[in-house]
Amino acid sequence: MLIDTHCHLDATEFDADRAAVIARAVAAGVRQIVIPAVGRSNFQAVRDLAWSWPGGRYALGIHPLYVAQADDQDLLALAQCLHAWQDDPRLVAVGEIGLDFFVPDHNAPAQRARQEIFYAHQLGLARQFGLPVLLHGRKSQDVLLKYLRRQSPIGGIAHAFNGSFQQAHQFLDLGFSLGMGGALTFDRALQIRRLATQLPIGALVLETDAPDMAPAWLGRDAQGHAQPARNEPAEIAGVADCLASLRGEARAAVIGQCAANAQRSLPRLALVQPI
Ligand code: ZN
Repeated sequence: MLIDTHCHLDATEFDADRAAVIARAVAAGVRQIVIPAVGRSNFQAVRDLAWSWPGGRYALGIHPLYVAQADDQDLLALAQCLHAWQDDPRLVAVGEIGLDFFVPDHNAPAQRARQEIFYAHQLGLARQFGLPVLLHGRKSQDVLLKYLRRQSPIGGIAHAFNGSFQQAHQFLDLGFSLGMGGALTFDRALQIRRLATQLPIGALVLETDAPDMAPAWLGRDAQGHAQPARNEPAEIAGVADCLASLRGEARAAVIGQCAANAQRSLPRLALVQPI
């Protein structure tokens, strides 16, 4: 069974045809889709969407690129929602949280410090409510790891992992899985392809990060030039094919192992759900 461990299905890009997008994912064999929040304004939306079909799941958190527009009230709202919905079986993680030191506007010292305050606070909330975390990290893996060691959260997923082997092993040692998605499908993504083939299969989970991170076969014009394209959760079937062929392993075995890894990292995915 395919599990998309990271998909922003509430994004406006899906407003026109969200039901069809979900139907295509189900038809492609996707049994569960985890919808992370990015800030207070979409906490209710991701929850409602996750309850709109049997395979929906959600996470609550403040994304590092939304920290600049957030304040203490947003952290309070997060704590209140986690408290109110802590027994909701479809709430599977705190996320998407983390640190983004790649986007220039968010990379000045004051912004970095603010991101770190929000990240540390949300790790604390994850521990308080016994939930794993969905981590976003760009140019920040070592700082992400520093806080994880300090606060020892319950584990989770390092989404769209793009670090080194050494950093990968440090996440694994802390009980995390590494999210693999559309980036893997590009021939030029040498480092991610090395990680995807040389790490043990038990380290990896599948994700699309839709509507972003379109795989290589989307977004090409007739001449083969890259065009902006919308990704969607059904594409995870092709990502799984790519991972299996890169590793030289059977597709079914790779899909099964990645699903088991996702359930280990986000234990509530394994709960039997009310229909
Ligand atoms: Zn995301």
